[in-house]
Amino acid sequence: MKETALYIHIPFCKQKCLYCDFPSFANSEGLMERYIEALCKEIKSVCNKKVSTIFIGGGTPTYLNLDALEKLKKSLEILDLSKNIEFTIEGNPGTFTKEKLKILKDMGVNRLSIGLQAAQDKLLKKLGRIHDFNSFIDSYNMARSMGFKNINIDLMFGLPDQTIEMWKYTLETIVRLNPEHLSCYSLILEEGTPFFNLYSEKDLPSEDIVSEMYSITKDFLNSKGYFQYEISNFSKQNLECKHNLVYWNLKNYIGIGSGAHSYYNGIRYRNETDVQKYVEKVMGYGNAIVESYENTKEDNIEEFMFLGLRKINGISIKEFKRRFGKDIFLVYGNIIKKYECENMIIIKEDRLYLSSRGIEISNYILSDFIIKI
Ligand code: SF4
Repeated sequence: MKETALYIHIPFCKQKCLYCDFPSFANSEGLMERYIEALCKEIKSVCNKKVSTIFIGGGTPTYLNLDALEKLKKSLEILDLSKNIEFTIEGNPGTFTKEKLKILKDMGVNRLSIGLQAAQDKLLKKLGRIHDFNSFIDSYNMARSMGFKNINIDLMFGLPDQTIEMWKYTLETIVRLNPEHLSCYSLILEEGTPFFNLYSEKDLPSEDIVSEMYSITKDFLNSKGYFQYEISNFSKQNLECKHNLVYWNLKNYIGIGSGAHSYYNGIRYRNETDVQKYVEKVMGYGNAIVESYENTKEDNIEEFMFLGLRKINGISIKEFKRRFGKDIFLVYGNIIKKYECENMIIIKEDRLYLSSRGIEISNYILSDFIIKI
């Protein structure tokens, strides 16, 4: 049986962060009960597949109440899970309780991803986060005391009023806690968010400063035993996020819940984003798919390159041939040669990957891998 990764979306947040453009909503608690009912119904559609990883993301999954978590736990019991499954849930400080963590443990969750973003309360407030730094520490310690041995912490740099010193302090403080994994993203002003109206590029740290922050992140984390395995992700040895690697390796995943995306057997699907409509669709027809598209061979080739080159060890030349029946150099020879000469792309045995310099301008390089017909 083919294995698949499973993503489960929880669209509720206590409060909407000012920079966030994810499909998540505040003040929608009234929909929680019916949403979970629909979600549990949709989960049944995966019971004939072997599930290799589960990622419950959002939104703020730990904002679900105990009753909702219990129902979710029950619905997952019917799934056929791989023996060494990685099972992650995202949570935000201020929404953790021991009772919730206990249910999550019983559900089989073995990896927590905690959203912190910065170690300075002043910055957290600016971002519109619901928590301060101390409440993050309480949540982290609570998770450790409940036996969670694999924890990721999300951080952000390039924030308004964030200095290089502040970013260094955040990294140093977090590394002292010894988490297994760190995700470090630079802020992007997304259209439609309050941040987009409040700030313009000139209110943010300059491009040079952001690039220095990124460079500091890589050097500092490497010196502390965290290996960079993707543009924004660092982990201790063998503790990379297996679920996210499924996306970057262009493998099968099924997304459940409002606004969730799937990629299965070369077909991309998207679920209804509106929570109310999602519930109605699932309860009425058993699914909430509003869009599906069969990738062409060219789409798959581009995505394989786009996503694969985000990884520090890039892509396998042999795998390209095996998947697409073509030699990578016949498809991309000129582009590869150009960037190889500029030391932006490195080829070593079977691997083709971006150099450190290449990663710094990865957006620019990756756009060259779009196949122009
Ligand atoms: S907690 Fe996460 S998903 Fe919710 S609003 Fe903030 S950034 Fe968005």
